[in-house]
Amino acid sequence: MALTTELPLLGRSEAELEQWATAHGLPAFRGRQLHGWIYGRGVSDWRAITVLPAALRDAPPAPLGRSREHHRSLASDGTLKLLLDLADGLTVETVGIPTADRLTVCVSSQVGCPMACRFCATGKGGLQRSLAVHEIVDQVLSVREAMQRRPSHVVFMGMGEPLLNIDAVLAAIDCLGRDLGMAHRQITVSTVGVPRTLPQLAEQALARLGRCQFTLAVSLHAPDQALREHLIPAARSYPYEQLLDDCRHYVAISGRRVSFEYILLGGLNDQPHHADALAQLLRGFQSHVNLIPYNPIAEEEYQRPTPAAVEGFRRALQARHVAVSVRASRGLDADAACGQLRRRLQVSPQAAAAGRP
Ligand code: SAH
Repeated sequence: MALTTELPLLGRSEAELEQWATAHGLPAFRGRQLHGWIYGRGVSDWRAITVLPAALRDAPPAPLGRSREHHRSLASDGTLKLLLDLADGLTVETVGIPTADRLTVCVSSQVGCPMACRFCATGKGGLQRSLAVHEIVDQVLSVREAMQRRPSHVVFMGMGEPLLNIDAVLAAIDCLGRDLGMAHRQITVSTVGVPRTLPQLAEQALARLGRCQFTLAVSLHAPDQALREHLIPAARSYPYEQLLDDCRHYVAISGRRVSFEYILLGGLNDQPHHADALAQLLRGFQSHVNLIPYNPIAEEEYQRPTPAAVEGFRRALQARHVAVSVRASRGLDADAACGQLRRRLQVSPQAAAAGRP
């Protein structure tokens, strides 16, 4: 297929696709047809859009923007992890997590991640690049297609740090709402914190989307600066108080609560005194704490917390009136932790570019 360097169509609104059609000498209704086939039917190949003239199908002036499946891994609980090939040979992970009444897609915002959190598989390989809007929306369509089910929730908890790619993340949220009919409230953006970007995220969301209704989840993981820096080296440039101030600022601008994520690492940050210190920090903060038992990754020596430690931590927070839930581990047999599948398959950027897995 003779594809030009034109930007992909995925990610564009119906009006933008109409404009695209007329700019290419086509009637505007071709743009509406493309919109229906791209988002409604989830077509990944121009040749499959049978309503279009053959000349257009055979020599499309722009790529649709869909990625190809490189590998899939299905866990016994139904969690599906997809490794997708991007146009430049890099790969990205996405996960579909089904329950009876939900299908959550865990999307990546970057290929790799520069934050280097010590317990995270993605952090081990550094950052290759940020994803473009079509590469984020594609993950949701790919899971929809693979699981034959409409995703109800999207969480930006795959590879990458969304606050280092705010433009594309907000454009993707816009597209998911507008073109796939998802409610913004069913979308969660998870961040480990990048200085000065939290208020910016809320301001840009209001300016671009007219609302800031997605949920912000902040990965805290420790009840004090020293332990946090040990787990998250990037936290050295972001003092804890400043991070919490920025969260308050975010709440003031967006009018939404923030939820906090706390990974439980056996023996390291999972003791009742850690819970007490965390509750103290979050005093007066209308928030929700999500406890995430550590998923072991090959390279690290951290331990999974015992069930008793998880329960003890949860109770200690609850006793101090902190709203808390424990995230059930899903897909443990499908390399559940962020970035694990890609690492296990050892898809290095060089190997991928050379076409090797
Ligand atoms: N960079 C963002 C989003 C990606 S990580 C962030 O840090 O929030 C999404 C969540 O998965 C984070 O809360 C992260 O701490 C958690 N996570 C990463 N590695 C994990 C592991 N090995 N076990 C359990 N949770 C993990």
